[in-house]
Amino acid sequence: MMKVPLVDLKAGFFEIKEEVMNQIEEVFSHMNLFLGSNVQAFEKEFSNFCGVNHGIGVSSGTDAIHLALRACGVCKGDEVITVSHTFFATIEAISYTGARPVFVDIDPKSFTMDVNQIEGKLSEKTKAIIPVHIYGHPVDMDPILEIAKKNNVSVIEDACQAHGAKYKGRICGSMGDIGCFSFYFTKNLGGYGEAGMAVTNNEKLANQLKLYRNHGHVSKFDHAVFGYNNRMDEIQATVLRIKLKHLHNKNTCRINFAQKYNQLLEGLDLITPFKANYAEHVFHLYVIRVKEREKLRNFLSQQGVGTGIHYKIPAHRQPACKNFGINSNHLPETEKACEEILSLPMYPELTNDQTSYVAEKVAEFYSKS
Ligand SMILES: *Cc1c(COP(=O)(O)O)cnc(C)c1O
Repeated sequence: MMKVPLVDLKAGFFEIKEEVMNQIEEVFSHMNLFLGSNVQAFEKEFSNFCGVNHGIGVSSGTDAIHLALRACGVCKGDEVITVSHTFFATIEAISYTGARPVFVDIDPKSFTMDVNQIEGKLSEKTKAIIPVHIYGHPVDMDPILEIAKKNNVSVIEDACQAHGAKYKGRICGSMGDIGCFSFYFTKNLGGYGEAGMAVTNNEKLANQLKLYRNHGHVSKFDHAVFGYNNRMDEIQATVLRIKLKHLHNKNTCRINFAQKYNQLLEGLDLITPFKANYAEHVFHLYVIRVKEREKLRNFLSQQGVGTGIHYKIPAHRQPACKNFGINSNHLPETEKACEEILSLPMYPELTNDQTSYVAEKVAEFYSKS
C-alpha cells in the first residue's frame, strides 16, 4: 500500500537543507536575531515579488491582519465585512481590535466571498472589508475595490493562502490598501516557525504598521503609540529568502498536480475545484466537494491516503463568536460547503505515482458505492 500524506514538509526541507543550515549558523554567529539584515532583505524581496513598495515583516499572518486593521484605524464598535468560511485567525484579528465581524456568504463554486452581498451589509460602522483568497483562489476583487472606494472603507486582503496567486494578472495581496501573508510552515511559502508580512503601496500605512509591530518605537526610548511585540525574526527571514527563490516553481508543481487530479477524477460523482476565468489559482489546498464525505475519508485513510477538512465548523458557529449575535440563516452556502468539502493531498513534492494512486482510490470508492 502506498502512503500519501495530506502534506509532507520533510521532502521540501531535504532539498535546501545545506543552504538553510549554513544560513542559520550565520545568523547565530551575529546574534542579531530580530529585524536585522535578513528581515530587511526579505521585506524587499517579497514586496518586489508582490509588486508593491513596502513589506513589513511581522510575527505571523494573524498579526499581519491585526496590525493592518489597526493601521487602517479600525477600533472598538466598528464593523468589518468578511467571510465565515476562512481559517479562524481572520476573525480573531478582527476581534482583537474590538470591532465586530459582519459575514457575507460565499460563492459556492470558488468558495470565496460572494461580492454581490457586500453592499447589503454596509453600515455607518463599516470600516473595512477583508476578502480571503481561500485555498489559493483569488477573490473577485474589482467589485470590492469599487464598493470600498465609493463608501470610503479600507480593503485588507487575507492572502495567507495565496502567495503568488493572481487576479487579472495582479498579485493577490497587492490590490487592497494592505495585503496580509502568513509564512506558517504549511503555507505555499512557509518558514520553520511563525512569521508573516503586511504589504502596501501606501507609505503612511507602512509607517503605522512599523510602529505597531515594535512597541510603538519611534526611537530607542520613545513610544508614540501602544504597539505590540510582533517582530519578524532573522531565522525565519533567512529560511524564507531561500524558499522564495523556489516559490514560482513550487506553485507550478501544485498547479500541475491539480490539473492531473482534475483529469483523473473527471466523470466521478464529485466536484473538482473551480477556477474563475480571471484567476491564477495556486492550490494551497486541493478541495473537492463530495456527498458522502465521512465514508470517503475513512476509505481513503484505510488506503494510506491523508485528507483534511478546511474548515469543518464555520467561524460564525464557533462558541467564541456567540457574543457577536450572528444569525446563521444568512449563510446557507457556507453551511453547505462545510458539510461537503474534502482536501486531498497537495504539496509540491508529490509524485505522479502518488497523485495517480490517490485518484485511483477515490474512483475505487465510487465504483463500490
Ligand atoms: C494561516 C492563515 C492565517 C493566519 O496565519 P498565521 O501565520 O498562522 O497566524 C490567516 N488567514 C488564513 C486564511 C490563513 O490560512
